[in-house]
Amino acid sequence: MLATTSPISYRQLPLRLYQIGPKFRDELKTRFGLMRAKEFLMKDMYSFDVSEETARETYSIVSAAYDRLFKQLEVPFVKVNAATGMMGGSVSHEYHYISPVGEDTLLQCSSCGFAGNSEVLDVKPGSPVSCPSCKGSDLKEVRGVEVAHTFLLGDKYSKPLGATFLNTSGKPQSLVMGCYGIGISRVIAAALEVLSSEQELHWPRLLAPYDVCLIGPKQGSKEQPAAEVIENELLLQVGELCGQQELLHDDRKELTIGKRLLEAKRLGHPLIIVVGAKAAHQGSPKLEVHLSKGEKLELDINEALKLIADYSQHKESLLKGIFPQDTQERISDSVGHQL
Ligand SMILES: [Zn+2]
Repeated sequence: MLATTSPISYRQLPLRLYQIGPKFRDELKTRFGLMRAKEFLMKDMYSFDVSEETARETYSIVSAAYDRLFKQLEVPFVKVNAATGMMGGSVSHEYHYISPVGEDTLLQCSSCGFAGNSEVLDVKPGSPVSCPSCKGSDLKEVRGVEVAHTFLLGDKYSKPLGATFLNTSGKPQSLVMGCYGIGISRVIAAALEVLSSEQELHWPRLLAPYDVCLIGPKQGSKEQPAAEVIENELLLQVGELCGQQELLHDDRKELTIGKRLLEAKRLGHPLIIVVGAKAAHQGSPKLEVHLSKGEKLELDINEALKLIADYSQHKESLLKGIFPQDTQERISDSVGHQL
């Protein structure tokens, strides 16, 4: 498109254009639910710069944003060097979730965390491969699901297409491009694939539909009157702590607590709070709190509220880009030197 519009000026650069929309691919074998489907949601962006140098700056800025996003999701990821060498100085990285259902083969170094696509690492049959980052020899093969990709394209497309800008002396010059994509629906499917079990979903905190699911007593049970007082109190307090939109109240009181709890666990709500028989205890009411991965706690009301407050606090930190468990640092470091 930039090739057909009247030439833009260097003053308008850098230019970064993105879109989020459905893509269609005629997959012969659709597999793994949303992971490999004929229709998927994709974010893609194209960047246009005046020089290789500024294009590399753009590449660093966008890559840093991608790194931050994948850290925010708290799903272990690897960033692999995918440079193809088809054009001088080109740079390309892929972001992968490690999963047996992945379709790419990656080699990961046990010592420093470096990971590379097996094609890029120049693997010769029969000969030992060493890690390009630390020269270690303990590389193991893992399967990866590609969830994002970044390319520095240079003038590979702008030159043949005649996509130019007017430089400082008013002469047309080829735009230097970059291209960046995130498979949005694939990130969701692959994150769930990596984190969940056969019995229960497990969501990244920032993607979970709700933070808290509150389950009250069954209609007609003997604990109902006393437990309902606490249930109503919690509806207010929990809503204030995490926001009403993050609280799911399962008020299907005609169903047993057990039935509703089973469904809540399958859906993978991060915090499930049951206000049942023990909540009706005079003097020391207790709540049952179910965390994902089968962990169950018996807490009094203040302890439960503290847990919810901590959870919300953690989410807020993630959104601000503060990472309490900075597990991805070594991976970013190991590829940083290639930029
Ligand atoms: Zn290494």
